[in-house]
Amino acid sequence: MSAGAIPGRLLLRPGHEAARRADLLRHLPDGVSPPAIPANALLMPPPVNAHDHGYGIRTLDFGNIDDALEVWIPGLRLRPRTDPYLEALVAFSRLAKTGIGATMHCHNSLNIDRLVEEAGAVMRAARDVGIRLALSCPLLDHDPWAYDGGPQRLRPFLTPADWDELSASIPHYAPPSVQISAADAVAAANTSPLIDIQYGPIGPQWCSNTLLESIAEASAATGRRIHMHLLESPRQRQWLDRRFPQGVVRYLDEIGFLSSRLAVAHGVQLRPDELELLAARGVQLVSNPSANLRLRSGVAPISAVPESGPAFAFGLDGTGFDDDQDLWRELRLAHLLHGGRDVTRTFTPARVFDAAIQVGAKVVNAQGNDDLVLVDYSALIVDSLTDDLDEAEVLLARMTAAHAKGLYVGGQEIMRDGKLTRIDHEGARAELLKQARADLPRLTGERQRVTKLAAATRAYYSGW
Ligand SMILES: [Zn+2]
Repeated sequence: MSAGAIPGRLLLRPGHEAARRADLLRHLPDGVSPPAIPANALLMPPPVNAHDHGYGIRTLDFGNIDDALEVWIPGLRLRPRTDPYLEALVAFSRLAKTGIGATMHCHNSLNIDRLVEEAGAVMRAARDVGIRLALSCPLLDHDPWAYDGGPQRLRPFLTPADWDELSASIPHYAPPSVQISAADAVAAANTSPLIDIQYGPIGPQWCSNTLLESIAEASAATGRRIHMHLLESPRQRQWLDRRFPQGVVRYLDEIGFLSSRLAVAHGVQLRPDELELLAARGVQLVSNPSANLRLRSGVAPISAVPESGPAFAFGLDGTGFDDDQDLWRELRLAHLLHGGRDVTRTFTPARVFDAAIQVGAKVVNAQGNDDLVLVDYSALIVDSLTDDLDEAEVLLARMTAAHAKGLYVGGQEIMRDGKLTRIDHEGARAELLKQARADLPRLTGERQRVTKLAAATRAYYSGW
C-alpha cells in the first residue's frame, strides 16, 4: 500500500507479526488473551458510519418501500412501537458485526417529553455493544408533511373525511428554547467518554428561522456540535431557494450556523459556490450515496469537490446498497460513483479512506482515537498472483462486512472471530421482532392513513 492511503497505522502484512501482536495487545483490556490472528490479517482504523438513524427494524421490513424522499417519509409512521433500547441495541450490534466502531445516530423521536428517556436508552445500548456513538437530538418546528405551508397544502388532495381523520395527527412542537434545553439535558445525563451529544435540527425546511438561529447561538455558547440534513432532494432545493432568496447556505452563514462544529448530511443539491462557503467555514459534508439513489435524490457533487473543498465523510442513513448496513460496500459505491471519466482519478482510494476514517471521526467528535478493526485480508487475496497489491484498492474492490473479524473500541474488544463479545445479536433481534409483531394490529389502520397521505404528498409535489 502506498504510504498514507489508509490513514493511521495499518497493516500487518506477513513479516510484521511482532508489531501486529504488540499493536493488538495494546487494545485489549488487561487479562484478556489476544485472539488468533489469521495469517495476512490487516488491522486498520474502522471506518465511521457518519450519518444514520439506528433502525433495529429496517424500513422495508415494515412495508415502507423506496420512493421519492417526500413520498417515502409518511411510511415511517408504519414503524412498529418497540422498546427504544432494544431497537438501538439491534441497530448498533448489526453495525459492530460489520467492523464499524462508531456511528452517528440521528434520533427520530418526535416527542420532546420522551427525548431524555429515549436518548438514555439509546446511550445504554451503545455502551452495552461497546460502539462509539454520536447522538443527534431532533429539533424541528416547521412545515410538517409539506414544504411551503405545512399540512394545509395537502388538504386539497384529500377527501374531507380523510383530512379530518389525518389532521388529528398533525404534530405540535415545543418552543425552540424547550427543545434545546431537552438536548442539553441529554448531554448533561451522558457520562460516557465514548458518547457525544449533538444538536440535530432535522433540516432547514423543517425548522423555523427562530429555531435555526437559536441552535447557532446554543452551539456557539456550549461548543456542542450540530448535525443536520441539508439539500437532500430537488424539492428541498426548490423550496429553500424560494424561502431564502440569498440561498439557504448563505442564510445559514449569516446567522452564524456554519462552523467546524457543523456536519451536514446529503448535500446532493449543493452548488459550487455553496461548497466553497462550507469549506471556508470548516463544515463537514456527509454523503449517503445509496440513500440518495434509493430515495431518488440523485448523486451528490462529491467528484466535483476539489482538495480545497469541504471535508466529507460517508454514512448509511439506514438505507445502504444491499439494505444490510454494510459500510464497506457503501464505500465501494462511492468510489465507483465518483471516479469520473478522466485518465487520472482525482477521487482516489486515499481520499475515500481519509473521508471514512478521519473526517468520520470528526463528525462523531472522536478524533485521535486508536480504535482498530481486524480484517481477514487473506480471504480477499486468496487467488492473488502478486504480493504487492495496494490494500486500499483491494478493500474497495472486494471488502464486505463478512471479512471483519475483530473490533477494538476505546481499549475494549467488542468483536472476536466475527462474533460480538458482549451482546447476543440474534437473541436481541428475535426479541425485537416479537415486540414489533405485537404492534401489527395497530398498524393495519395506520397503513390506510399512510397510503392516503403518501398519495396526497405525491400529488402535491407533482405540480412542482
Ligand atoms: Zn438521514
